Amino acid sequence: RKGIVVITGASSGLGLATAKALAETGKWHIIMACRDFLKAERAAKAAGIAKENYTVMHLDLSSLDSARQFVENFKRSGRPLDVLVCNAAVYLPTAKEPTFTAEGFELSVGTNHLGHFLLSRLLLDELKQSDYPSKRLIIVGSITGNTNTLAGNVPPKANLGDMRGFAGGLNGLNSSSMIDGGEFDGAKAYKDSKVCNMLTMQEFHRRYHEETGITFASLYPGCIATTGLFREHIPLFRLLFPPFQKYITKGFVSEEESGKRLAQVVSEPSLTKSGVYWSWNKDSASFENQLSQEASDVEKARKVWELSEKLVGLA
Ligand code: NDP
Repeated sequence: RKGIVVITGASSGLGLATAKALAETGKWHIIMACRDFLKAERAAKAAGIAKENYTVMHLDLSSLDSARQFVENFKRSGRPLDVLVCNAAVYLPTAKEPTFTAEGFELSVGTNHLGHFLLSRLLLDELKQSDYPSKRLIIVGSITGNTNTLAGNVPPKANLGDMRGFAGGLNGLNSSSMIDGGEFDGAKAYKDSKVCNMLTMQEFHRRYHEETGITFASLYPGCIATTGLFREHIPLFRLLFPPFQKYITKGFVSEEESGKRLAQVVSEPSLTKSGVYWSWNKDSASFENQLSQEASDVEKARKVWELSEKLVGLA
């Protein structure tokens, strides 16, 4: 049978390119888990993904109710789950004030991390039950949360601090909207959310890999400077960022190439090692990359896991 892969945020950018790359192999049926049904349908059509290779299902990661509803709908569909890709994200670098999810968490960490945390915890049983030979849970990371890289050292840097804001609920009322308890900064909130994504992948690996055989992985697909991720940025940035990445940093990767990379992490038999953060070199060859000290801190991973369980109502 075809593999069944759920990809969150498959309506644009990396998620859409990955869906297309997997569909073209003829070996996958893609569940596009998206907040905007019509946009996702149109995107799939425009990308030329054949009708029998995908299904759009509603998921708004900025609402925990919606994540729970998605899991119920998925279970009711009777389909097995072979691979889950947590890809969706928001990035709000120019926001002056925080905005919030349905449950009142700061939007970047609430959507990128907490929404995916609940989704993947609730779907773990589905993955366990699948009879697919290589089951995987993939969380898209980023270089910007990695302070051991040049890009990760552009201020404001990711830093979870003692997580006092996280413990307080990230609600901007009786706690800060930032994980470290500091002043709101949209660019930093995004980077912090990516650190949480990478820590969560490793914590999943430590807790569940041996028992379940599921591969837990993260990746940095390269700088895809043309995606919608930068839609909230100032126009001058959006104009200059792609050529800057192409000619100066040489980190630029096309949406198509980034989709092929993530598709490898979904399906390549050679990429089954668990607990790995994948990156690609200049020749587009994959390698196991090192995470920064904070993004590989075992104690922090455990604390993020436990605080997240409380906030999403699992503890
Ligand atoms: P896009 O903005 O193109 O894609 C993001 C996707 O997330 C969209 O489909 C968007 O849906 C979806 N999304 C946003 N909010 C929600 C929500 N509340 N519920 C459900 N879906 C939502 O950006 P990219 O393709 O660049 O980003 C994909 C991933 O790649 C992210 O995890 C990002 O952090 C990561 N990444 C990107 C890099 C880059 O250079 N672009 C570099 C490194 C990592 P909609 O279409 O409805 O807006």
